[in-house]
Amino acid sequence: MSNQPDVMDKLVSLCKRRGFIFQSSEIYGGTGSVWDYGPLGVELKKNIKDRWWNAMVRSRDDIEGLDAAILMHPRTWEASGHVAGFVDPLVDCKTCKGRFRADKLDDAKCPQKPSKHPGQADQCQLTEARNFNLMFKTFMGALEESASAVYLRPETAQGIFVNFLNVQQSMRQKVPFGIAQIGKAFRNEITPGNFIFRTREFEQMEMQFFVEPGTDMDWFAQWKAMRMQWHLDLGLSRERLEFHQHSAGELAHYARAAFDVTFDFGGTLGFQEIEGVHNRGDFDLTQHQTFSNKKLEYFDQQANKRYVPYVIETSVGADRVTLAALVNAYREETVAGEDEGRVVLGLQHAIAPIKAAIFPLTKKDGQPEMAQRIVSALRSSFKVDYDESGSIGKRYRRQDEVGTPFCVTIDGTSTSDATVTVRDRDSLAQDRIHSSQLVIYLTDKLSK
Ligand code: ATP
Repeated sequence: MSNQPDVMDKLVSLCKRRGFIFQSSEIYGGTGSVWDYGPLGVELKKNIKDRWWNAMVRSRDDIEGLDAAILMHPRTWEASGHVAGFVDPLVDCKTCKGRFRADKLDDAKCPQKPSKHPGQADQCQLTEARNFNLMFKTFMGALEESASAVYLRPETAQGIFVNFLNVQQSMRQKVPFGIAQIGKAFRNEITPGNFIFRTREFEQMEMQFFVEPGTDMDWFAQWKAMRMQWHLDLGLSRERLEFHQHSAGELAHYARAAFDVTFDFGGTLGFQEIEGVHNRGDFDLTQHQTFSNKKLEYFDQQANKRYVPYVIETSVGADRVTLAALVNAYREETVAGEDEGRVVLGLQHAIAPIKAAIFPLTKKDGQPEMAQRIVSALRSSFKVDYDESGSIGKRYRRQDEVGTPFCVTIDGTSTSDATVTVRDRDSLAQDRIHSSQLVIYLTDKLSK
């Protein structure tokens, strides 16, 4: 249990009402734990992905970008260990027909007696645990037979490992260097839920950094610190972020060390993983060498030696970070002199879906025309919104609720002296500035 408030239900409803996130195929009753991003959600998530891409790829010369296909050769998943090991132990209840993770019974509720865990009520009849593979299986080509079975990738990382030499050689990179990609991953999760926290289709932002064995723990420490800083720079509050170190029992058999970056989602969810930073040693490249019969070694010309690099991996969920950013930003406030309070998404400026909203105070006296001219002038620099409906107070509230940092109002004076009022979402301070200065003014403010 966390000290932070549980805002999940309020967020789910805000996200639907204001066009951030909808349930997939809602008109058919929805698809379990699959979500669609609406107009504002897609902007928010894109801004988060762009920040990651800029930090990891564009601003460094030792990391290259990649966009590998979702469908891979099925041997990939034998080499990676997913066919044999990517399983959860499951039990069914013959009474309620519920299905639960055998290792998470304490977190589950009996559907018929919610005060008890599955197996605790007298009528529960749990079966023996059996393993269930989390990969989605499908068929390539016209024949639905086992020889043509392929998987939807459960992580993006393997697309990077199999392209290690392609990228290294084509880009003439020297170890240490990294490969980064953003893409969809699929897991047939048994106990999905908590909105977009655990879904069956999600996006990962992964980076594999290839290093010389022996330098790995040093790089691991550096990446751990850099990734935490990235979350802080995204505006996630320091007191909601913590590292969780994997104990010897939690470590994957190939991992030399692992830390999760955890975020406090509030309520009963509390601190949960949003990113993993792992030292994977040479496990993945060695496995792919064995299964493909192709050498995946690096030749260090200066030292005149060959070796299989070790890998430091940083793996973060774009959807989980989007949820963390929303939870972190949500606040309810009273407003001095007003009866009704306001809901604010205090999103960091760089990720807010709309940067500025433009309002004519009235629908006459040339105000809408002037407002539209301002919208056209700003549009090439920022995502802006034009709104002329309802009272000005209502329009402010609508923008606060979706996290728009600035609202620009055109009033009676504006049409004669070309000045406008800019209102700050957080401080509520209002500046009167010349409309020709708006792009410079907003560029400066939005960079903070
Ligand atoms: P968990 O223990 O929560 O299932 P994991 O340890 O299996 O996560 P990884 O395989 O390390 O997760 O994946 C890296 C990141 O991908 C996670 O930190 C998370 O942000 C994201 N992720 C993994 N599974 C899901 C999912 N089902 N839905 C949304 N994001 C996910």
